[in-house]
Amino acid sequence: MTPEEVLAFAKEHNAQMVDLRFLDFPGIWQHFTMPIHELDASSFEDGFGFDASSIRGWQPINASDMLVIPDPDTAVMDPFFQVPTLTLICNIVDPVTKERYTRDPRYIAHKAESYLRFTGIGDTAYFGPEAEFFIFDDIRYASAAHYGYYFIDSEEGIWNSGREENPNLGYKPRHKEGYFPVPPTDALQDIRTEMVLMMQQVGIEVECHHHEVATAGQAEIDMRFAPLVKMGDQLMWFKYIIKNVARKHKKTVTFMPKPLFGDNGSGMHTHLSLWKDGTPLFAGDRYAGLSEMALHAVGGILRHAAALCAFTNPTTNSYKRLVPGYEAPVNLAYSSRNRSASIRIPMYSPSPKAKRIEIRFPDPSCNGYLAFSALLMAALDGIENRIDPGEPLDKDIYALSPEELANVPSTPGSLEEALKALENDHDFLLKGDVFTEDVIAKWLEYKRSNEVDPVRLRPHPYEFMLYFDI
Ligand code: GLN
Ligand code: MG
Ligand code: MG
Ligand code: MG
Repeated sequence: MTPEEVLAFAKEHNAQMVDLRFLDFPGIWQHFTMPIHELDASSFEDGFGFDASSIRGWQPINASDMLVIPDPDTAVMDPFFQVPTLTLICNIVDPVTKERYTRDPRYIAHKAESYLRFTGIGDTAYFGPEAEFFIFDDIRYASAAHYGYYFIDSEEGIWNSGREENPNLGYKPRHKEGYFPVPPTDALQDIRTEMVLMMQQVGIEVECHHHEVATAGQAEIDMRFAPLVKMGDQLMWFKYIIKNVARKHKKTVTFMPKPLFGDNGSGMHTHLSLWKDGTPLFAGDRYAGLSEMALHAVGGILRHAAALCAFTNPTTNSYKRLVPGYEAPVNLAYSSRNRSASIRIPMYSPSPKAKRIEIRFPDPSCNGYLAFSALLMAALDGIENRIDPGEPLDKDIYALSPEELANVPSTPGSLEEALKALENDHDFLLKGDVFTEDVIAKWLEYKRSNEVDPVRLRPHPYEFMLYFDI
C-alpha cells in the first residue's frame, strides 16, 4: 500500500485510532496508540518519537529519543480492540542521522534479505516456522516444572491435562499421546480454529492446525511459508492472536520451549528454501532430492549451529527442550524423514517447488527476525564456501551407541554454551553488515546479565526437594 492507500483503508474501516508496533531486542511486540487524525501521509517519512531507553537492550538514557517510521505495507485492522484501530508495523530510525537503528531486529532482517540478493545466489528466502505452544487453564500448570512433577488428579490418578473440570470427565490424552485423537480428547479444537480464522482475517495464510504430542494442551498451527521479513512480521501477529484468543477464553498460552518436566517441549521447526527468478534452488538430484546448493546450505547451518542457537534457542529454558527422548534434536546431523536429526529433508511431495530443508532445533522463544536472519546467513556461508555437510544420518539417533555417536557433534547444553559459541563464531553474521559487532556484543551482554546469571544464581525449587533435609 502507499501512504494514501493506508489512509483510505483506515477511513473505509472507520478506524478511530492507530496502533504503532515494533519488536524489541529479546522479542516482545511493543506498541503505542494515537487518534487516527495524528496520522497523515508525512507520518510515513517523519515518524513519531518514543523513549528507546525503556526498551530492553536498546538506547542509553542520554540518547533515548528515537523515531518509529510506519511501514505502509503492514496496515491491518486490529481484530481485538473494541474501538476500530488501524495497526502498522514500524521501523526504528535515529532522529539525528535519519539512519535506521542497527539494533532494530526488523532492520537486521531487511539487511539479510538485501545480502541474499547482493550475493547473486537467490532473490527470495522462504521461511515456514511451525511454532508450537501450550494452552493452559491456569499458570500453575505451566509452573508445574518448578516442582519437577506433573499434577496428577489425586482421586482418579489420570494425568491432569491442564484442564480443570468438576467433575472430571475423563478423555485425558495419555502420556505422549496428544498427537492427535479427535475430541473430546482434543479439547482445544474450537479455540485453535478461532485462532486460525483470526489469522486469516489479518492476512496470514494458514495450512493446518492440530493438537501436539504433549498431553497438557500442546498445540500447533502452521502458517504457509513467506519471505523473511514478512514471516518475521507474521510471527508477531501469530503469537499476538494466539495469546489474545486464549485470554478471551480465560486461558493462557506460553511459547516457552519446555514448560513441563518429563513431556515434549515446544519447538519451532523452520522450513527454509531459496529461490531465484521464480525457480526453486534447493531441488536437485542429490541426496533426498536436494540440489548441491541445498547440501551446502545444510553444511553451513550445521557448521554454525552452536552459534546459531544463541539466536534460535535464546533462553535458558531452551536447553531443557534439547534433550533426548522428546523428538527434539540433540545431535547436529541431517537426514531425510528422520525426526531425531537437527535438519530433516521432508519427503512428502516430489514437486521441486516443495523442496526445502526443515531445521528442527529452533524454538518459539526466539526473536523471529533475528533467528531467520541468522539461519539465512549460515546457509549462505555454506553455499559461498561450499561447506560439505558430511554423510546423512538415517538412523534413529537416540538409539545410537556412544561409539557411533562419537563423531556427531551435539547441540549446546546451555544458553551459556551457545553464547560462548556465538562469541567465537560470528563472522558469517557480519557479512553485508547484517549483524554488527555492536549487536553481537549487546546480545551476549544482555543475555548473560539478564537471563543466564539471574537463573544460575537463584536457588531452584527442586534443590529444596533434594537438599533441604541434608
Ligand atoms: N515438540 C517437538 C519439538 O520439541 C516436536 C514434535 C513434532 O512436531 N514432531 O521439536
Ligand atoms: Mg508440524
Ligand atoms: Mg510439531
Ligand atoms: Mg515439523
